Amino acid sequence: MAGVGTRRWFDAAPRGVETSYEFVEGWGMAAGAPARVLRPRSVEELARVFEAARRSGRKLALRGAGCSYGDASVTSDGDVLELGALARIRAWDPASGVADCEAGVTVEQLWKRSLPDGWWPRVVSGTMFPTLAGAAAMNIHGKNNYAVGTIGDAIREFDLVTPRGELLTCDRARHGEVFHAAIGGFGMLGVFTRLVVETKKVHSGELEVTGISVPGLAEALGEIEARRTSADYLVAWLDGFARGADLGRGLIHAARYLEPGEDRQPEQTLSVRHQELPPSILGVPKSEAWRALRLLNHDAGMAALNALKHRLGVLEARRGPYRQAHAAFAFLLDYVPNWKWAYGRRGGRGLIQYQAFVPHARAHEVFREILRASQAAGHVPYLCVLKRHRPDPFWLTHACDGWSLALDFKVTPATRASLWRHARELTELVLAAQGRFYFAKDLVLGPDDARRMFPAERLAEFQALKRRLDPDGLLATDLSRRVFGDFA
Ligand SMILES: Cc1cc2nc3c(=O)[nH]c(=O)nc-3n(C[C@H](O)[C@H](O)[C@H](O)COP(=O)(O)OP(=O)(O)OC[C@H]3O[C@@H](n4cnc5c(N)ncnc54)[C@H](O)[C@@H]3O)c2cc1C
Repeated sequence: MAGVGTRRWFDAAPRGVETSYEFVEGWGMAAGAPARVLRPRSVEELARVFEAARRSGRKLALRGAGCSYGDASVTSDGDVLELGALARIRAWDPASGVADCEAGVTVEQLWKRSLPDGWWPRVVSGTMFPTLAGAAAMNIHGKNNYAVGTIGDAIREFDLVTPRGELLTCDRARHGEVFHAAIGGFGMLGVFTRLVVETKKVHSGELEVTGISVPGLAEALGEIEARRTSADYLVAWLDGFARGADLGRGLIHAARYLEPGEDRQPEQTLSVRHQELPPSILGVPKSEAWRALRLLNHDAGMAALNALKHRLGVLEARRGPYRQAHAAFAFLLDYVPNWKWAYGRRGGRGLIQYQAFVPHARAHEVFREILRASQAAGHVPYLCVLKRHRPDPFWLTHACDGWSLALDFKVTPATRASLWRHARELTELVLAAQGRFYFAKDLVLGPDDARRMFPAERLAEFQALKRRLDPDGLLATDLSRRVFGDFA
């Protein structure tokens, strides 16, 4: 209970700012701490929060919707500053597809506003619940990262309120270095209060999706690489339990936007109603489906489920291309609300996602070893997802000209220590191949790893900017302390 029960809890909350005391955890439930949570409802209230923090020296951890898997928006020293109440779309232009949004507007709010006018967000994550500010702070990528870059590439401009109380309006030219450092800067340089984002013109509310079943890892990589210039989205699910010659078998989904005229009823498919996910799955109400998954949440159950998914994938691939609503394709994981609860809801249980980014030339060798070593260590990932990426200009970006393999590992009090040791071994493999990691998914990196991921001069520049914008080091999270120490 670090930071709790000390007199610092009794520092007065900033005047008029909604305040509560909660156990604040990462999305994967494997990290969390009790904290005072401040929820400013305006930029003026936010300024008062910073003023009070400068006086008291109390640290602040920024938080959006709390969808980062690990400890990126968790703190055991100081307050949580949650920006979800600033959630207005200030302006939407259906002619250009540009939205001017407050920080707490979610990906869901954005697509629900833009799609009926024929626009879809250029970059979305696998869930629609993140805020745009949280997405910008992590520089999120989608299943089209190899083609369009990260969300930073779709941001035109933002307002950032620094802990010193300045408001900086930044774009690629104005405060260009702040623009490129704060996107992907994991909430260390200031608070995004407004973001201007571009969306993409679409002529239908549906995509044409093709399933491609692959017998192994080499084929998965080869098929995606071959479709890179023709598909708008590419993602592969891999069976983490398949061994030997089947290692890395799985199902690729390639999708493309429809051309004008291909959809005979665009007004209907572009409606929000057409995008809504069905209310039940195989007759089970969606809200209860996680209970069914819980029954299978052990190695034998997940091995069977992965094998079944592979068989169904073979059948899907035979069926040929089909149409699917954007939301159903993009937010597959939202189909089962609270599916993470299948991993256990308290008592040190949960999941971590370990997402390794590896340059193209080394990806096959490193991912094969990651899958093999995980099976040998008895920590088999229950869900594995493979994606293609491309570099971008943001200072601390995770993306590279290469691939990522994201692995969901179950965490229990009994397996935690050995899982962390296993992750350490994998991390050494990835770093030796000039790979990187993604702070939105991380809970296992150590203090030297960032120095091995990014060029020294880049880190020095980021640190200098941090000192300039946040001289008292007020913005800090458990992630920043774990990976960077006290870098003010
Ligand atoms: C099921 C699931 C699927 C996902 N799929 C993907 C995916 O496909 N691709 C991908 O890239 N990510 C993915 N993610 C991760 C998710 O997109 C990121 O973690 C995102 O940052 C979450 O946004 P949030 O609003 O929840 O922010 P939080 O998780 O609360 O915070 C994220 C970071 O933003 C900072 N922050 C929050 N608000 C502000 C602000 N106003 N100003 C400055 N900094 C701020 C926080 O300090 C923290 O460092 C997935 C997550 C889940 C749970």
